[in-house]
Amino acid sequence: MECYSEQICALAVDGELAPDEARRLRDHLTTCRRCRELVDALRAENRVLSESLQELPEEAAVPAGFPRLHRCDISTGCPFDENRRS
Ligand SMILES: [Zn+2]
Repeated sequence: MECYSEQICALAVDGELAPDEARRLRDHLTTCRRCRELVDALRAENRVLSESLQELPEEAAVPAGFPRLHRCDISTGCPFDENRRS
């Protein structure tokens, strides 16, 4: 049985392989440990890449020093505490 190249496996992981080719590759993966490990490695690499890409906008959206809106001094009391005035 002929093995697939890393390039073909990468295309399959990206979902860019033709459907019949992808099915042939999947059939091959059930019998070939070497190619299955190659696809697994490529898939893990892809996941790490997409996760790091997703994290970037979230990190940029967090303002520095947040939250600083409500700072209370225990000796003067909290100006936002309604119970203190009764
Ligand atoms: Zn193989």
